[in-house]
Amino acid sequence: MIDLTLYDPFEKMQFTDTNCFLCGTIITTEHRAPVFAEWLQDKYNLQNKELLLLDKSVSTFSQLSIPCCDRCHTHYLLPLEADVQQAAENGVEGLRALPPKRLFQWIGKMYYGSLINELIKEANPLVMPEYAVSEDPKMLGKFRSFYQVLQSLRVPMEFHDFLPCSLFILEVAPTEDNLPFEYQDELTTMSFSVKLGSAAIVCTLLDNGIIRRALGKLHQITENKPLHPIQLAEFKARVFYAAYIFSVVPEYFIRPVKPEDDHLVLDTLIDDVTNEIFNPWDMTAYAHMLEEMLKPWSIRETEILQNPAQPLSFILDADNNFKPMEHFAKQV
Ligand SMILES: [Zn+2]
Repeated sequence: MIDLTLYDPFEKMQFTDTNCFLCGTIITTEHRAPVFAEWLQDKYNLQNKELLLLDKSVSTFSQLSIPCCDRCHTHYLLPLEADVQQAAENGVEGLRALPPKRLFQWIGKMYYGSLINELIKEANPLVMPEYAVSEDPKMLGKFRSFYQVLQSLRVPMEFHDFLPCSLFILEVAPTEDNLPFEYQDELTTMSFSVKLGSAAIVCTLLDNGIIRRALGKLHQITENKPLHPIQLAEFKARVFYAAYIFSVVPEYFIRPVKPEDDHLVLDTLIDDVTNEIFNPWDMTAYAHMLEEMLKPWSIRETEILQNPAQPLSFILDADNNFKPMEHFAKQV
């Protein structure tokens, strides 16, 4: 019989270096798995590449690891990495062909890897973070819901009629693309992006696909067009901003389990009656987000908001149609 019991570290706030991140088993501190898989580190030379953590400390891609028991490592993480590695060999097409749930688990693992490092740090009584995510009840509620669906990595689970995230897989044109690998995550808004060669994945976790639907038109017109890196940056700004104003937390319900069941079935509910799904759009806040993403091109907020009714866009023209772009030339 398959054990369908879920592990919930949030129940007792069990964030330590001696509990497997995925099943909770007691382990020693030597049992760890890299947050960024070895194939990823090898392929993109990430070993010594620096990574800025939430508490502003600097780590490297190879240093960041999670407590993980041998069983979870061998049975769940390695097969997951093998699936994604193989799919990534075929670029955008390969990643699009992968079951979205698999990609969710892969992104979820890296996201949670960063998160749990933060939670373990905060659990140390000597650490007094400026902003402790573990002391924010709303954030904790979100993380806990997310963790429940991340358990699909270990416990067979069917999401009935939903995917617990929004996924966008985009292609980047090679002409002016000089970054083979790029990574970004925002713990509090649960937004995430990773670029593997010419394939970029942008994802917002725990929105049940609502952001993907909300940005449907933008997604549709960019889906089959190789984007200039600056267009990708703008796309990310739009998605990350949507995650920033997304204001509901989906609830997940496990259907009662019968003895013969070999997997769990999860239903979901979003309370959009008493809650607004999105907080109001704030142009200045969006411009700020876009400015952040456009840093490599030194484009400032004032330029972005030159026409306050229509912020600067590299993707859309004045009629909201796709604007092809091969070369970026800075407007003076
Ligand atoms: Zn484990």
